[in-house]
Amino acid sequence: MSPEPARQARIALHEGGPPTGVTTTAPPDRRNTSVSTIPAGAVPEVLAVLGSSPRGLTSAEAATRLHRHGPNELPRIGRGQVCRRLIAQFTDLFAVVLLVASAITFVAYWLGRPRDPATLQLALAILGVVLLNASIGFSQEYSAERTAESLQAMVPHTCRVLRDGEHCKLSARDLVPGDVVILEAGDAVPADCRLVEVQDAAVNNAALTGESDPVVRVAAPVPSGPPLQARNCVFMGTDLVAGTAKGVVFATGTVTEFGRIFRLTAAAPRQQTPLQRQVTIMARRVAGLALATGAALFAIRVPSGQPFVDTFVFSLGVMVALVPEGLPATLSVSLAIGVRRMARRHALVKQLLAVEALGSTSVICTDKTGTLTQAEMTVVQVWAQGASHAVSGVGYAPVGQITDAGPVRELLRAAALCSNARLVPPTGRNSWRVLGDTTEGALLVAARKAGLDPTQEEAETPRVAEHPFDSARKLMSTVHRDSDSRFLAYAKGAPLELLARCDAIDHNGRKTPLADAARTEVAAAADGMAGQGLRVLAVARRRVAGPRPSLEDVESQLTLLGLVGMYDPPRPEVRDAVDACRRAGIRIIMVTGDHPLTAEAVARRVGIVRDSAPAVVTGTQMDALDDSGLDTLLAGSSQLLLCRVSPEHKLRVVTALQRRGEVVAVTGDGANDAPALKHADIGVAMGASGTDVAREAAVMVLLDDSFASITTAVGLGRSVYRNIRKFLIYLFSHNIAELVPILAATFAGFPLVPITAVQILAIDLGSDVLPALALGAEPMEPDVMNNPPRPRQERLFSPAVMGRVLFLGGIQALGVCAVFFWHIHASGIPYADFTKRDPVYREAITMVQAGIVVSQFFNALAVRTDRQSVFRTGLLTNPWLLVAGCFGIGLMAAISYAPPLQAVFHTAPLAPADWAVLTALGAVLLVAEELRKWALRRRRTSPKGES
Ligand code: ATP
Repeated sequence: MSPEPARQARIALHEGGPPTGVTTTAPPDRRNTSVSTIPAGAVPEVLAVLGSSPRGLTSAEAATRLHRHGPNELPRIGRGQVCRRLIAQFTDLFAVVLLVASAITFVAYWLGRPRDPATLQLALAILGVVLLNASIGFSQEYSAERTAESLQAMVPHTCRVLRDGEHCKLSARDLVPGDVVILEAGDAVPADCRLVEVQDAAVNNAALTGESDPVVRVAAPVPSGPPLQARNCVFMGTDLVAGTAKGVVFATGTVTEFGRIFRLTAAAPRQQTPLQRQVTIMARRVAGLALATGAALFAIRVPSGQPFVDTFVFSLGVMVALVPEGLPATLSVSLAIGVRRMARRHALVKQLLAVEALGSTSVICTDKTGTLTQAEMTVVQVWAQGASHAVSGVGYAPVGQITDAGPVRELLRAAALCSNARLVPPTGRNSWRVLGDTTEGALLVAARKAGLDPTQEEAETPRVAEHPFDSARKLMSTVHRDSDSRFLAYAKGAPLELLARCDAIDHNGRKTPLADAARTEVAAAADGMAGQGLRVLAVARRRVAGPRPSLEDVESQLTLLGLVGMYDPPRPEVRDAVDACRRAGIRIIMVTGDHPLTAEAVARRVGIVRDSAPAVVTGTQMDALDDSGLDTLLAGSSQLLLCRVSPEHKLRVVTALQRRGEVVAVTGDGANDAPALKHADIGVAMGASGTDVAREAAVMVLLDDSFASITTAVGLGRSVYRNIRKFLIYLFSHNIAELVPILAATFAGFPLVPITAVQILAIDLGSDVLPALALGAEPMEPDVMNNPPRPRQERLFSPAVMGRVLFLGGIQALGVCAVFFWHIHASGIPYADFTKRDPVYREAITMVQAGIVVSQFFNALAVRTDRQSVFRTGLLTNPWLLVAGCFGIGLMAAISYAPPLQAVFHTAPLAPADWAVLTALGAVLLVAEELRKWALRRRRTSPKGES
């Protein structure tokens, strides 16, 4: 390519260029100026102005342009947003309450005569809490943001282009102006392109215009007007929903229309998930309760003659003690950990919201091909002219034989010509591969086994038109020019659909009318193959008058050539996953475009259908049902197979299931699966074989396409929810242990507090946050998939959870009250004579603080399981929890023994016997909880117990 046109293209793209077409504005960018122009004129002119050719760019030119224009990507999150997020950490309700508390304490210290250093320490400590929380919250949010970004980057985003005249697959990032992009129905458009060739193409511009009806595209010049109305262009971020097209790229990255909108919308705030909202509301209530308790204590203690400032500072301390400072941060960490774990198990979750919904999934509507099976098709049987022909060999290597190949050669030739896939010979360590649809790949392999060369056949009988495969029509057809310049159409598709469009059958090259008997014979042959679990395709042909016949002309009055049956082995891991779903009370509904008999055979192989006969309903039967009929159907058989359905049926099923209160996960790969994927609670797209449209519509992308990964993700979702409950119980139970001794001392008339505000803060930060984080990262419990799904309306703070908080908190509170008053009474000093400096008082409050720290250590172990004994789960299965707990105890020891810390906290060194007593108290908590779990297990297993 000459450098001159390339330079012209640059001018046209980045310097405004001559006014040859529609001008669009775009924001300034590091590498681009603000204007991109849609090149006008006929295709050759457009290619010339962009410095390209029908063979695309050369690799060398593409590399130069990539260097010059930069990669085809959108900007990352800007600094402004990061700053805003940081500031938001200090405007959150907890932070504001604590900041106000800290400010008041500073003022109290300033006004106090003499100034009490303890008050200053408290003010600083509260400020420290705010800073610490803000930094944890910020780093978590930031890393969650980064995780989401990197996850998005992992979602395959490639495109097909012509480079050096060859088809190749490229990362969309490497696309440059002048590249010729090849698009098929279901592909997302990777950059702004002017179309140079189209075949029944239509796009969905919803991402840009909000209008989701498909709009037809052309390659011819169009009058100038607003850019998005240029019918000969496709734009980044939109999807080709029908047909095929080739387009030459004229804008990449931020210069595209999508880039402009992306910049406008990138700053949109992120939504809180319902769970986060529940926790925030609850946290607000607790903060309100804390304020009220602080005020009440102040009101009780001031009239009893306590010094005003002391009482005020004390009440503030109580308030601070009750605020669950670490909660929001711990919650985001727990969800983010869930997302990361799922990613490691091949399930990319695009929204934190999905993690929760996954945990309560009650129905999975699954595709068959590729999800339950390996999508590695091998043609094993061909039927033509009343006879079956076995095909040997497995996989895509064209090695194998067809018994008596002669009569089926024309059938396989037609099937190969009517295919878009390409067979790629082995390279390096790769064996034979298929580029494109594996069903079509298998047909190419079979054609080769019959001694045909599909590439040569294509060259001799070139394709002039195509009506692409569509899962609603279940057919595909192509038109070819033969050596006599006459036109022949080939069609292939689901046997019943194709048979209905045939009026003749081929007999040794002769067209014979298709009598009813012959029709029945063909249908029986198709059923026979489907009954063995084979995917069956029928193949037909007809002569047509011209190169561009309408769909109706091509797909009618066809002559049937025969049937092809292909085997797709089930995925080995699916059987266990199906069993896990059964144990977990999750219903599996197979939703397939395939033949009922094929579907049933596969469903039996993977264990979805067991002994009894399943309910098999076809799309046509579904059409005859009204909504209440569909509801009755879904409420009926637990083994339901929906066959020969189109994506519209899928959407109807999802909606009906949701009406019944189910939480629905649905899989999809095609462009027209998008509505069902969007509507479902969990839309699951196929990462390896799915279209970009499906991946964009889904909240979860399966990297390996396997059903087993959905089950794993559901298990992990359930586990995240359980972990959140664990740390909530853990955090709130210790609040009770902090508050009760204070109330007890107040009501017993003891003049001082059994635990100071600074000590409480040390507990919250030493023994609270880290174990709570470790609980949020608990590994998945083995029984997580042994219970039915959590009801949709179940609240996080169920009566059972509140009961456990009171039980565990109550035991801790009793323990620390006992050690405190035992110390005080053992000294024999009257209450009124106690002062802050009294060694016995210092020892007693040290015991209270250490008592809470030690019992929290045991509490963290206790909350790990709901019913199972922790000793069965294994004490070492979450080492981080032990590390976090030991850190808390170590910190407590330092507070007790290190003189500088003793001065800050008013503590005293504890004797070994004291630690022994506290450990015994902690052990009592663990034993009591073990007994409760044992009683629960007994009640659940005894026939009279509640279930
Ligand atoms: P599942 O994934 O659950 O097996 P499906 O969603 O793949 O089913 P479709 O892809 O819609 O089902 O295919 C429906 C029917 O259309 C298939 O049973 C097959 O007979 C036929 N078919 C599939 N692929 C093609 C193709 N490329 N060309 C022509 N016909 C096809």
